[in-house]
Formats: sequence, C-alpha cells, structure tokens
Amino acid sequence: MFVDHAKIFLEAGDGGDGCVSFRREKFVPFGGPDGGDGGRGGHIYLVADPHMTTLLDFKYKPHHKTKRGQHGSGNNCSGRDAEDLYLRVPLGTVVCDEQGNVLTELLEAGQTYLAARGGRGGRGNQHFATPTNKAPRKFEYGEPGEKRTLVLELKIIADVGLVGLPNAGKSTLLASLTAANPKIAPYPFTTVHPNLGVMELDETQRCTLADIPGLIEGAHRGAGLGLRFLRHIERTKLLVHLVAPPDNGEIDDLEHYSYAWNLVNEELAAYSEALVSKPQIVCLTKIDLLPAETVDRIVTFFKDTQGIEILPISAHTGAGLDALRERIRQELTKLGMLSEGTKEKIGITHDPTP
Ligand code: GDP
Ligand code: MG
Repeated sequence: MFVDHAKIFLEAGDGGDGCVSFRREKFVPFGGPDGGDGGRGGHIYLVADPHMTTLLDFKYKPHHKTKRGQHGSGNNCSGRDAEDLYLRVPLGTVVCDEQGNVLTELLEAGQTYLAARGGRGGRGNQHFATPTNKAPRKFEYGEPGEKRTLVLELKIIADVGLVGLPNAGKSTLLASLTAANPKIAPYPFTTVHPNLGVMELDETQRCTLADIPGLIEGAHRGAGLGLRFLRHIERTKLLVHLVAPPDNGEIDDLEHYSYAWNLVNEELAAYSEALVSKPQIVCLTKIDLLPAETVDRIVTFFKDTQGIEILPISAHTGAGLDALRERIRQELTKLGMLSEGTKEKIGITHDPTP
C-alpha cells in the first residue's frame, strides 16, 4: 500500500521540575540552597530517510510521545534530559499544520525538523538565593512539552518520471526496470497511487523512477485523478514519455501517435511550463504488438515531423530496455544527477538541538 498522507499526533515530554533543597552538612549550620534544575523533556524530530518510501508507518502508529525530563534533586543535581525521538519520514515529506499551511519540506537525506519541543526544565532553588533571602523556597515547575497535530504529505522525489496516457504501459515499464511491484491491469486508472522504483544503472549508480498515473485530458483542471499526481512530478529531472499503439487496433494511424504525445505534453504545459520543459526521452512502447515496418515508419515519422529520436521498447519482451536504461543514464549524467555519491547515507546532517 502506498500511503501519501498521514495525520500524526505528537506529545513532547514536559520539563522536570526544579528542586527545593538545602545543604545539610555536619558543622555547617546554615547550608545554602542546593536544589537542582529539572531536565528537559524529549523533543520529537522528523528526519528524512531515503530508505523510507511511504508514510504507512504513521497510518498504523499516528501517536508519538517522549518522556518528561527528570526532576532536579538536592546537592545541585540537575535532572536528566529525556531522550529525543527521531521519526523517520521519506524524502519529499511535506509537513503541514491541520489548516494545511506548509511548515517545512524534508527534501534531503538527514534533514531534520523539530516537530514538537520538549518542555524546558524548571530551575531549582539554588538559582533564587538573594542577599536578603539566603534560603529561598522558590523553584520553577518544568515547562509543558509541546503537543502538536501535523499532517504529513509525501511529494515524491524521483529522478525520472514516467508519463503517458492511461494504459500506455507506465506501470508495466516501472516493474520491468525496477524492483517495484505496481498493480497492472488492462484498463486505465489501476494505478491510483504513484509508484516508486529504484533502477540499477550499474554497480554503483542507481536512480529512482516514479510512475505518474492518471494523466488525462483536463487533468490540470482537476478532472479525473490527474491533478494530485501531477504534483508528484514537479521535482523530477527527466521524463520518460511513453507513446503506445492505439487500443482500437489502428496501429498504422501515425496521427494517433503524435496526437497521444501532444496531448500529454499539453497537459504538462497546462500544469506548469517548468514541467513541459524538462528533458524527455520519448519511447514507443508495446512494439511487440507492431510489425517491424510499422515501428520504422513511426520512428521516421517522429524524426521528420518533431525532430525527435523516439526509442522503440517493449516491457513485455524486454526489447529496447537496455537502450532505454543507457539513455536514462546519459541524460542524468548530463544533468549532473549521477555521481558516486548517489547512494545516500542517512545521517543527521546538522545538530538539530536548538
Ligand atoms: P499504465 O496505465 O500506463 O500504467 O499502463 P499499464 O502498465 O497498467 O499497462 C496497460 C496494459 O498494457 C496492460 O494490460 C499491460 O499488460 C499492457 N502492456 C504494458 N506494456 C506492454 C508491452 O510492452 N507490450 C504489450 N503487448 N502490452 C503491454
Ligand atoms: Mg499504471
């Protein structure tokens, strides 16, 4: 199950109370105040982890809390701070409040967000001695921890987005190129959720592919399922655009192919200019359904009319998939997207303690 929405309820621990205590020593008649401070309650952080792909964990477990800080004690002992909690979320998690205001976006591995602040510990009476009051009984209670309800939303960050009309074969291609296991069926809109897969380009390099479903006429105006998913491809660097033979069997109708290609581009453009100007690798899919001469005619047609080198592939037979992988690798290299460092390590990139 792909979950791209989750509401979470966070309760950070209260601060520990400060302590009232006086030094009692043999032969020291009036020991001063020595009540220690309370410890801080645990913070709750969100941290972006590239190994997470969905918000599913939060659907099952939406409530999270941390412990309170330890109370201060005598002998100037501060109470221990409670342990902080790091909740791992996928890259691309957008954090909103309940009203839908965006608070932050976690886009880089290790990026953290302080989602609920633990309460500060109260000060013990050692801090309140004055020349006129050498035996203060004053202390502070710990501050309450923050309680927050947040809405997490996953905006997929894939290097490569698969676009095309419904039934073009996007999900099938994603499954053939990656280890992802999307739902595939011979009718439109089986893929109600975008799927993500990781594609190995060679031993050290890989990239993420997202299947962007539901791109239909009028999608940008909110018709169908398109709009929600168009958002997911905003961040991709490269599009693989699939053009399939028509379902009605008129495989020699060249206009169909350019019409399908244009329609999707118009949808992209209507949504955002940035989207349609992303580099595209255009593929002619399902070539196992086409005689070789037809494939050649379509290739020539696209070259002559659009100046495009369309790449013939078949997810079913595997034809052309190595060439496609290579084209993707080249394009991503050109875009500066591939380097040995592509295999991210998860780690806290900065000390988040405020
Ligand atoms: P999507 O809507 O773009 O995700 O399309 P799907 O991947 O769900 O595929 C739609 C239909 O086309 C399914 O019945 C697939 O089995 C079929 N299909 C996908 N790729 C190929 C292919 O390379 N060759 C053939 N013959 N059929 C394919
Ligand atoms: Mg699909």
